[in-house]
Amino acid sequence: MKLITGEKMFNMIFKNKTLQTVLLMLAIFASIISCKKEIKEEIINDEIALEEEKEIERYEFGFKLNDYVVVRDTIRKGDSFGQILERNKIGYPQIYNIVEKAKDTFNIARLQEGKPYTLLCSKDSLQLPTCFIYQPNKEDYVVINFQDSIHAYTNKKPIKYVEKDATGTIAPGSSISQVLDEQGLSQVLVYMMADDIYAWTIDFNRLQPGDKFKVIYTDKYIDDSTYAGVHNIKAAYFEHNKEPFYAFEFETDKEKGFRDYFSEEAKNLRRAFLKAPVQFSRVSSRYNLKRRIAYYGNRIRPHKGTDFAANIGTPILATANGTVTKSSYTRGNGKYVKIKHNATYSTQYLHMKNRNVKAGQFVKQGDVIGWVGMTGNTGGPHVCYRFWKNGKQVDPFRQKLPEAEPISDSLKIEFLEFIKPLKFQLDNINFLEEEMNMKIDSTEILDKQILIEDDLISKE
Ligand SMILES: [Zn+2]
Repeated sequence: MKLITGEKMFNMIFKNKTLQTVLLMLAIFASIISCKKEIKEEIINDEIALEEEKEIERYEFGFKLNDYVVVRDTIRKGDSFGQILERNKIGYPQIYNIVEKAKDTFNIARLQEGKPYTLLCSKDSLQLPTCFIYQPNKEDYVVINFQDSIHAYTNKKPIKYVEKDATGTIAPGSSISQVLDEQGLSQVLVYMMADDIYAWTIDFNRLQPGDKFKVIYTDKYIDDSTYAGVHNIKAAYFEHNKEPFYAFEFETDKEKGFRDYFSEEAKNLRRAFLKAPVQFSRVSSRYNLKRRIAYYGNRIRPHKGTDFAANIGTPILATANGTVTKSSYTRGNGKYVKIKHNATYSTQYLHMKNRNVKAGQFVKQGDVIGWVGMTGNTGGPHVCYRFWKNGKQVDPFRQKLPEAEPISDSLKIEFLEFIKPLKFQLDNINFLEEEMNMKIDSTEILDKQILIEDDLISKE
């Protein structure tokens, strides 16, 4: 047996320690290296990813953008086509040539401040522009190409329509706008339903808690990705006061592109009469046979017209097609117009500032027949709208007004076929609360199953 002295022992431990330290340090070093290597690899991978990204072919305006240095800017105040090209290293003789050759397609004086333009420049060291692209709006663009021969043309960006659906239920104290807001849906859907589709059937100012809707609509996208708003509502279902109202958009004239909304029974939802002779107005006094006015000693002074308050100068519209029978003045009516629409209906518009039609003239629905004023016996600017049916003044809001244009018999068959899949689709969209109920139902079933299984286990 060898005796190991203390010193030797110390040395051995020391050596060992050194060895350990060295080993430890080596290990750390190695791990740092490997770490670094990993980071390096990551960077390399990123670079590859970047390069791969660069390799993705990008097209816009019908050009492969990868082949150019793309310069994007907007027309600045006082910018001219010549200045833009000059700023981008193109000389005046050539600018003159380009303008001359392009002028039949596009008047370069029409460049509008703030509109975007794109220059496609050569990828060499000079990076000279070879093409100028101007976008007067989101869809259209004008290309002035001077790469080889100078030529100019206008074109449209590709448009994509995406079908979507939405539902909503109005909770107490809530509004239809809030319902849409909560789901991040466009308010345009309300305007379309209120003003286009259900303007004659549902008063959107009097919606009730519990009223609910479903819509199938299309969103519009430009260049696949730029959202350009709601395009149209294809079909809708609105439950107002527990009464269902279906609406389906249908083309009644393919040549003229006329479209209307019809019920599931092919009834036109639009009426032959506008709801009001002025837009953006409010009804200040309704048709009321028992109106009492303090000024007249609280005696009954029936109001057989409907007053629409609006600013002086607001256009007054003919509510339906017809022939002007009167365009004149009396002390009470002020300046007024009367229109005969057919054997049954006539309308009259009072207190105008000015009239825009003559007796005997044919007017179409929506034509401006005069402007809001306060001529005659009136306390403020408004139009008094009078509605005659078979020679008697009636309340237009209480009339079952005639359909705008009933669907023809031959089209009716086509329509009923057309709406079958749409109605099926609409009926199979669940309201949010229905979906929640279904989930609750299924969890209940699950709970029951567990109970039954527990039962079985306990019996065993
Ligand atoms: Zn009135």
